[in-house]
Amino acid sequence: MSDSGKDKGGKPLSAATRLVQAGRRAEWTGMPGQPGGIVNPPVWRASTILYEDVAHLRSADVNDPHRLYYGRRGAPTSWALAEAITQMEPEAAGTMLYPSGVAAISGALLALLRPGDELLMVDSVYGPTRALCEGLLREMGITTRYYDPLIGSGIADLFHANTRAIFMESPGSLTFEVQDIPAIVAAARERGIITLLDNTWATPLLLPGLGMGVDVSILACTKYIVGHSDVMMGSVSANAALWPRIRQGAHTLGQMASPDDAWLALRGLRTLAVRLKHQGESALAIARWLSGRPEVARVLHPALPDCAGHDIFLRDFASGTGLFAFELAGGGERERAAFIDSLGLFGIGYSWGGYESLAIPVDLKGLRSATAPARGPLVRVNIGLEDVADLIADIEQALAVWKEAIGP
Ligand SMILES: *Cc1c(COP(=O)(O)O)cnc(C)c1O
Repeated sequence: MSDSGKDKGGKPLSAATRLVQAGRRAEWTGMPGQPGGIVNPPVWRASTILYEDVAHLRSADVNDPHRLYYGRRGAPTSWALAEAITQMEPEAAGTMLYPSGVAAISGALLALLRPGDELLMVDSVYGPTRALCEGLLREMGITTRYYDPLIGSGIADLFHANTRAIFMESPGSLTFEVQDIPAIVAAARERGIITLLDNTWATPLLLPGLGMGVDVSILACTKYIVGHSDVMMGSVSANAALWPRIRQGAHTLGQMASPDDAWLALRGLRTLAVRLKHQGESALAIARWLSGRPEVARVLHPALPDCAGHDIFLRDFASGTGLFAFELAGGGERERAAFIDSLGLFGIGYSWGGYESLAIPVDLKGLRSATAPARGPLVRVNIGLEDVADLIADIEQALAVWKEAIGP
């Protein structure tokens, strides 16, 4: 077993191997005095931690991350998950867990920003992140300006004296613009501005955010890490410079994840590499098929040339995942609903990253302020682990229903 992310010769293990090994420390999977142990760290449920005596209680170090202290500070199940996520990014100094992806985003921003600071936010950002900026952060005196996802090194022209942080999300989870992360990081570094990345779509497996110089990497674990549509969770990993502030911020706000949820997320994480590979390949095959269909005006998948930032995707990402969108070639709300309603293998619901396919209508009203991507009726799909030919046949029959609804 390796709990360091390195092989016996001290060489870093590849990402897929780390996903299998990480967090399975002997002290979390075995019993003292007995050789061997079980494969997975069990669920350690705890609020109270019992101490041997008063002296032991008095000497307990609250800042020792792997010492039982009090339930809110976690126990081996959540430590194992946090360690496994940290090991996905060799540049990470540590990871904190949160009860949802939005909690991770707000936890990171509240840990790093103070009244009077300005935040630069990508215009294609996840809607609830925008709501946080326009609501609580604004009320606290933290202002947000939105920038074009394709801005690249031009971001430097936006810097003010009080610009404290730049938030990226690449690709956007509705319109799939790919950002030039290295160019933005270079401009930010020159001015000592913090960079954060919502890396939920690619995960560190396909886009090494911290390895590209980003300071803080955020995941809605709800999506691909959990992978089975049954747990809400978020994580924030940070480099050594910012890790103490992220950790302190989470503790101050009382943020944590339940051990049962951590156990399920850890189970999901073990198969992340195979799920992403399969779902990514299926999604690309379906995106290519859609791009040849007369009923489809445009496919927004970063691996296809119609998608903004396609060249950057080819340069920076190892491959794609299972989420993309496409624009129907006409019709309106009614016809789009007829298409989605007649899909037999796609559930209709929010979220994504699970093993099962989903489809939803996408509307950008209220979600853009710096850019206005003109779009026809958009449909976003999460491609799951079903057989790709079955999914294509299902979409094909639903497109026929759509065409019928459009009329001659
Ligand atoms: C879903 C999502 C989130 C929020 O995650 P929750 O667990 O639903 O709070 C954040 N960012 C992106 C890109 C998402 O898709």
